Amino acid sequence: MNRITGATAVAGIVGRPVRHSMSPILHNAWLAAAGIDGVYVPFSPTPEGLPALIAGFRGGAIRGLNVTIPFKEAALAAADEATDRARKAGAANVLVFGEEGVIRADNTDGVGLIGAFAVQAPGCDLTAAPVVVLGAGGAAAGAVSALLDAGARVRLVNRTRAKADEIKARLGGAITVFDWAELKTANAGAGVLVNATSLGLDGKDPPLAALEGLPPTAVVMDMVYKPLRTGLLTAARAAGHPVVDGLEMLIRQAVPSFEAFFGQAPPADVDVRALAVAALGEQE
Ligand code: NAP
Repeated sequence: MNRITGATAVAGIVGRPVRHSMSPILHNAWLAAAGIDGVYVPFSPTPEGLPALIAGFRGGAIRGLNVTIPFKEAALAAADEATDRARKAGAANVLVFGEEGVIRADNTDGVGLIGAFAVQAPGCDLTAAPVVVLGAGGAAAGAVSALLDAGARVRLVNRTRAKADEIKARLGGAITVFDWAELKTANAGAGVLVNATSLGLDGKDPPLAALEGLPPTAVVMDMVYKPLRTGLLTAARAAGHPVVDGLEMLIRQAVPSFEAFFGQAPPADVDVRALAVAALGEQE
């Protein structure tokens, strides 16, 4: 447990529910290892209470907040300024509270996604073949934006097609939208599949059909990290696909968040992944 002093820098995460968030484990471990007088705490306001919470921190009462489901879109709307990547994602997972009263929004989920590939599938060239993205919520929008920036061609597949069409209209670029029923067609010749839906969360209903028609060499990434080995990743591994997991993405998005809150990179010599895996009650 970090020791609290009168000079302790405070940051946190806001979400509902937030109880099972891994972010406090990551950030507090980094704070302790870096010897920073700081603490990272969870907040879980009602949707009606969120604007008051954000307004109450204006003026530097807190260094910053990570934002998770269901508040990412509202957080972007509440900010005074936003980075390009937050605007493109239509969602913020980071709010930084300046002393001068300005609230700045960012979205580091895309950095997290690309970083997770760099760690767990370093040989994967995201530009070599189309990338299939399943989903069109906030996570998918951030992923598509980062993938386009990385030079990828994206095939976007969502149950509600209109939401995928909206992302394409907003981001432009190399996006082809497919109906949910056309998943197998979307997978033909793809180099990567990313599950950015909530399917498979808590072990329920993994989107196993997503593997149909996927070339055996394609890398399969699942943003869901509870369980760590989702049904999709287990089936993908069994079929010989290289895989990238959602926990690595979570860790990679937390790195720039920590820098934004505490002004320095997190120390490299603490194995936060092992801490998170243990907190999830899992084993590698
Ligand atoms: P969201 O905005 O609520 O979007 C949910 C998506 O899942 C939508 O595309 C929705 O399709 C789809 N979906 C839900 N139930 C479905 C079903 N039964 N069949 C087909 N599609 C279904 O959520 P989000 O913020 O984008 O997050 C998506 C997932 O990514 C969550 O599990 C979240 O925890 C995870 N995530 C992980 C990280 C990480 O760092 N690892 C970061 C961000 C998010 P419709 O549009 O048709 O409703």
